Parts: sequence; structure tokens; C-alpha cells
Amino acid sequence: MNPNDFSYTSYGGLLRILQRSRVDLCFRDFTEGNTENNFFILRHDVDYSPEAALMMAELETDLEIKATYFVLFSSPYYNLLSEEYVLFPKKLIELGHEVGLHYDLGAMGKGVHDENLLDRLSLEIDLLSRLAGSDVKSIARHESSSSGPDPFQETEFTNASDDRYTKQISYFSDSCGAWRDDFVEHLSKGDFPMQMQLLIHPLFWAPTSLSRWETLDAFAQNRVNDLLTRVQQRKEMWRNHAGVIQHERRAKRAMF
Ligand SMILES: [Zn+2]
Repeated sequence: MNPNDFSYTSYGGLLRILQRSRVDLCFRDFTEGNTENNFFILRHDVDYSPEAALMMAELETDLEIKATYFVLFSSPYYNLLSEEYVLFPKKLIELGHEVGLHYDLGAMGKGVHDENLLDRLSLEIDLLSRLAGSDVKSIARHESSSSGPDPFQETEFTNASDDRYTKQISYFSDSCGAWRDDFVEHLSKGDFPMQMQLLIHPLFWAPTSLSRWETLDAFAQNRVNDLLTRVQQRKEMWRNHAGVIQHERRAKRAMF
């Protein structure tokens, strides 16, 4: 097992090590008054690909592990209200996971005055709760390393970047497909802390080992292929459209 290869086999091995002497918790467990001493919180930020997130969610469900998936309304790569992804939050709940809101202050702040940001957060929470069929209780900031204060640090929701989950317990992340801090050292010694948050981005993990660059290129190529297929289907539809055929005939007759 080598977590540097970002393969599902290694991911499964890592989860088995963590679950050996720790209880897997979601952020909502803290809202409900968790009392476990030894635990790990498995967090996923879905920045790019609901498909990759669902594959990871199924793998975790098979291992009887639950995680909190934070999803974005403002991702440039997927639309939670589109026919393709509207059931995504509900599927995560059905697999036994928690769904939280991944909020993007950059997008939310455009055209919204500061005093209305909390209203905007409530709107997104309400909508996501409806899509998931389950009350959303947890939130996590997108691009949390970007500058500026976080107006949602103190709300009624559990915030994944609160000191309680990032400083008072150990916190590890695979952001950019690169392990931070001493994660791999802990792994090689088998001495992970007994209270920790582990942030995993599903896009970087795959059935076979790929570099982060190959993963990103494959993701981009898939999106390009999807777009070309959609445009091709639209062209076919328009070629056979009575209005278009009529217009083309008329345009031809009007030519000098
Ligand atoms: Zn993010």
C-alpha cells in the first residue's frame, strides 16, 4: 500500500488502518454531541467531479465507512441543478454519507452585499437540503487558503475549518494531489493521531495509479468529449428542425 500512488487499493488500505482503532465520524456527529475519544473525520471537497466522488463514496460504503461530502453550487465543472447531477446529493445520502455545503466566498460575494451573505448561505443550505432530502448541518469553505476573513466562521452550522477540527485535532489534506505535513511519515510508522480530520479530494484518486497531471488531463478530456457530443446532438436536432429547413430554403432563394 502506497498512498503516494493515489490508487483505490491504497486508499482502501489507508482507511482500514484508520478504522482499526478509531471510530469514523461525520461533522454532523459533532452537532449531535459526539463523545468518542478516538476518531477520524473523513472529509471530501467535491471541486471537480461528482462521478469521482460517487466512485469513492461507493468504495467507502463497501468498507462500512461514512464521510462528509462538501458540494459546490458554483463549480465551473458541474451544475447541481442540471439533470445530470441533480440526484448526486441524494445518492450520497443513500450510500450512508453526510452532505455538506462547500461555499465559495468569491462567487457568493459577487453582487451580494456583506450583510446579505448570511441570507445567501441560508438559501444555498435550504436548496441543498432539499436536493439531498436531508438537513444540511455542516459547511466548509472552498479555497480556504485564499485571503480574507471568513464571515461564516460563527454560524449555527458546523464549520469544517474551525480550530476544533483543524488545530485542536490533527488535520491532513491531499490538496493539489500532494500530501501535506507529515502524513506519509505517520503512515510509514503506523502512528496516526487518535483524533484527526482527513481531507481527501476524490478527483485525484482512481482505480489505477495516475499522476495528478494525468488525472487532470483525463478529467479535462472527458469534459471536452461530453461537450462535443452535446453540440453534435444539438446540430443533428437543428438539421432536422422544420424552422431551420424553411429558413435555409428561403435564404437560398434570396441569394443574388
Ligand atoms: Zn474546494
